[in-house]
Amino acid sequence: MKKKQLEITLERLEGFSEPSFQKEQYATPASVAAEMLFLAALKGDLGTVCDLGSGTGMLAIGAALLGARAIGVEIDSKALTVAKRNAKSLGADVEFIHGDVNSVHLKGIDTVIMNPPFGAQKASRGDRAFLCRALATAKTIYSLHNQGSEGFIRRFVKPYTVQEIYRIPFPLKRCFEFHSEDVKIIEVELYRITC
Ligand code: SAH
Repeated sequence: MKKKQLEITLERLEGFSEPSFQKEQYATPASVAAEMLFLAALKGDLGTVCDLGSGTGMLAIGAALLGARAIGVEIDSKALTVAKRNAKSLGADVEFIHGDVNSVHLKGIDTVIMNPPFGAQKASRGDRAFLCRALATAKTIYSLHNQGSEGFIRRFVKPYTVQEIYRIPFPLKRCFEFHSEDVKIIEVELYRITC
């Protein structure tokens, strides 16, 4: 499958029905997900993949469509229902686990691919909890963060190291009341972290 094909396929997925601001529920745009997953595929990192905070399934389903064994962990049962429906509609084989990333212990995972809760301005508690769990789960991690997170991420992940930082355009759609424009392109940073 080509990257554009994957993007078009993922665009069809159903999103969050009632996104929760507290849980920072924001589906990764299909263009960004396709970019992330193709980078991971090129590096040979799509063996057994886990998406922490899998939401409506964007990253886990995309990984499965590229041949990975994919697992998604999600705390919100409504999002999980949508994710399962999405996987079924595309014939993607994904194991979805209902749980808190802080208390789920997974074995045999090669790669974590995630879009963790960003925190409004800077690295939040959410980022930290997700990163901690990712470090405890896999030897290779792809994690999406706000611009300007590099110093924090490099320090936080030690003794793991940041191998690459990819800057990816991210179309931010209006979905919460306080967003004023309909679509705004921001740039996000995808970190590839290994031990
Ligand atoms: N991975 C998806 C969703 C990203 S939004 C995508 O890329 O589209 C972040 C997701 O993390 C939300 O679905 C939110 O419900 C979930 N989440 C937040 N805190 C969580 C926790 N402690 N445990 C599991 N999931 C959590």
